[in-house]
Amino acid sequence: MGAATLYQLARAGASVVGIDRFAPPHDQGSSHGDTRITRLAVGEGAAYIPFVRRSHVIWRELEAESGEALFEQCGVLVMTSSEAPARHHGSEDFTGNTIELARRYGIDHEILHASQIKARFPQFGPIRDDAIGYFEPEGGFVRPEKCIAAQLDAARNLGAAVITGETVSSIESEGGVVRIKTGERTIMANKAIVCAGMWSANLLGEPFSALLKVCRQKLFWFKLEEPSIFPQLSPTFILSHGPLETDICYGFPPIPGEGSMKIATEQYTALDSIDTLDRTVSDEEVAQMYQSHLAGNFAGVTPELVKAAVCTYTVTPDYGFIIDDHPAFANVTVVSACSGHGFKHSAGIGEAVAQRTLTGRSDVDLSAFSLSRFGAR
Ligand SMILES: Cc1cc2nc3c(=O)[nH]c(=O)nc-3n(C[C@H](O)[C@H](O)[C@H](O)COP(=O)(O)OP(=O)(O)OC[C@H]3O[C@@H](n4cnc5c(N)ncnc54)[C@H](O)[C@@H]3O)c2cc1C
Repeated sequence: MGAATLYQLARAGASVVGIDRFAPPHDQGSSHGDTRITRLAVGEGAAYIPFVRRSHVIWRELEAESGEALFEQCGVLVMTSSEAPARHHGSEDFTGNTIELARRYGIDHEILHASQIKARFPQFGPIRDDAIGYFEPEGGFVRPEKCIAAQLDAARNLGAAVITGETVSSIESEGGVVRIKTGERTIMANKAIVCAGMWSANLLGEPFSALLKVCRQKLFWFKLEEPSIFPQLSPTFILSHGPLETDICYGFPPIPGEGSMKIATEQYTALDSIDTLDRTVSDEEVAQMYQSHLAGNFAGVTPELVKAAVCTYTVTPDYGFIIDDHPAFANVTVVSACSGHGFKHSAGIGEAVAQRTLTGRSDVDLSAFSLSRFGAR
């Protein structure tokens, strides 16, 4: 969110500085792990659709500028293979909502029955015979680290300053001027935008500490059988295979040369403190992932782990994003809590936040992301 916002502000001609405690792209927050799903029919809610639409355009512009492949339009397949509809990211029937939004917003798609899914995508051969699928050809995946690097490079080329390895210790405003303190310096700015991911509550205090929870998530890359029936650049997928919000997994086609399939599930237990985040994935967690999500749902994937990573979701009580002014500090905007599906929207969010910061309004309506919905203003 920070890289996208910095890039868009620089592109609009603002005098702008980005500050990060690490050197993005890095693997300490919520934006690492090689790939992120993108889809236009955002089952989490219609308010997100303009962001992802703009992001798809911006990824292509950045690809032309940087020469990097950022967005693989391999399609996305959202499936329910269970008796009851599945809850996901706050939506009671995620696949149903996705289909409904695609119809309402004219998003190109196909509805596939189990026999069609199995024939076209044999890697999902074991799914139930009454499973249903939504296939969106415009979806696929983006490469988060490359997207971040491309936006930071572009921002620098447009004159933005990027300070890395420096932690912001406080943000205050007085008389309309924002004072940003790090261990090394104090920066006075007309405006500040805080995109601090899982560190947001620590930096901003109330009401964010009451609203945000940080949840540890794991990413797994399992080795494919040889010869592989999991084609490269086949669709990314979200598979609901039970009624609980943990009965869901999502994954990616094999990246050329890797011989593995990246897959993950989600959980919503809050960390007591982000300082206690366990960044290692245990053998038990690997075995549990395979047994609970892969066995019986996929063909062609072995239980052998190639690599694993830990990442975090920063989640609000209604799973929605927060993009709003800080209630106590004038001219400070908070962009965070992207609850597990933020990356696909990030380029569009950066553009909307830059517009709002510079002109007071944005092309995309941001009212669905206000703090007022929590009674927090
Ligand atoms: C496992 C996993 C899978 C996901 N899958 C998808 C997906 O398939 N599709 C999708 O669209 N989204 C997905 N998401 C969500 C998406 O990746 C995140 O919503 C998004 O990347 C969050 O970006 P962010 O900028 O808010 O946070 P971050 O990328 O964590 O950035 C926060 C930055 O703030 C910096 N910072 C924090 N505090 C300070 C401070 N005090 N001073 C200076 N710098 C500071 C940090 O160093 C960091 O660089 C997934 C997330 C995870 C964890």
